[in-house]
Amino acid sequence: MPSTLSSINITFLGTASAQPSSTRNHSSLALRLGGDVWLFDCGEATQHQVQRSSVKMGKIRKVFITHTHGDHIFGLLPLMASSMNGAGGTVEGVEDARTQGQTENSEPLEIYGPLGTRAYIRNGLTYTHTILGSPYVVHELRFPTDPHTEDYTQLAAHSSELPGRNISQVDGIWSNIYEDALVSVSAAPILHSVPCVGYVVIEKPVPGKMDPKQYVPHIKRTKTPMSVMSRLQRGETVTLSDGTVLEGPALRPGRKITILGDSYDPSPIAKLAENSDILIHEATNAHLPGVDPDTKPDDSYESVEARAKSRGHSTPQMAGAFATRICARRLLLNHFSARYPGDDDVDEGARRVMDAIKALAVEKFAGDVVCARDLMSVDVHFSNS
Ligand SMILES: [Zn+2]
Ligand SMILES: [Zn+2]
Repeated sequence: MPSTLSSINITFLGTASAQPSSTRNHSSLALRLGGDVWLFDCGEATQHQVQRSSVKMGKIRKVFITHTHGDHIFGLLPLMASSMNGAGGTVEGVEDARTQGQTENSEPLEIYGPLGTRAYIRNGLTYTHTILGSPYVVHELRFPTDPHTEDYTQLAAHSSELPGRNISQVDGIWSNIYEDALVSVSAAPILHSVPCVGYVVIEKPVPGKMDPKQYVPHIKRTKTPMSVMSRLQRGETVTLSDGTVLEGPALRPGRKITILGDSYDPSPIAKLAENSDILIHEATNAHLPGVDPDTKPDDSYESVEARAKSRGHSTPQMAGAFATRICARRLLLNHFSARYPGDDDVDEGARRVMDAIKALAVEKFAGDVVCARDLMSVDVHFSNS
């Protein structure tokens, strides 16, 4: 990674809920941080979606799983097999060049997820005799009721698996599960029908905007090398030869992105997610009388909301209300029922439905709302630019 992130981009790879359709794949999105790619969830056929997008398979460095429901993880093993040069072995007595010296030089693919993520991957790779050409590691976010040491499987580690961390909550959250010079990631539980987490990616403070007119005359007058500008850009204070003190612009906050898994109530992550530039929230079910021809005659908003909640899901209004609660700037809705086709960029009927879903979220949230569709790409901008 470079010293600052030139761009942050989100590409939706799948926006369907339980059932995929011809226009929506199962859940996955790619967060591009400069040149690196981090995947959030990896539903069935995610690798096909990567190939259809501008996301580079070879750039995937990390995978964050929100929960182990199949529509969020069934695509992970095939994606690993493809991106990590997987193979099915060789017949007896033949050396497999693809597996030689695999673990020393390559950075491991880092995977984060709740209890069961490690066991699922280990069992899947072992029982399919999959050999990988590079290592991986699974760090699990353990809930207070989970075991804190065991692997949740009797199988020994896969030959490409490195020992991972089991991360316990502190004060109800998993703080800084990953951190480097540019970003940090924290996570918190969100309420669904099974243990589920949301992730918050926070860019560290970035250099403020420079106004050269404030500095250049003084630098020239004192014949100071212009290279001092880079120190000022970093926010440093510089004293010139004639005693003039130049102060670089204050650092400004980095970008903040909250990516939730399935939920009927993400309250436990609310504090951590405050003031997000982007909130990605599911909106599985909506009440759309007059727009959705499949609306049942005796349904009401209340009955649709009650049904969505009973299955661990949300309506667009619930997503909008949460975006307002955390003072988010933009709300991106995803994880839609198969009833809502995802070709609203070309189909008038689909557009009417998605516009209506967006309008329901707007009832509860005054910021920008976008209904995601597969392969939609969104740049994450600074809030003050
Ligand atoms: Zn789901
Ligand atoms: Zn789920």
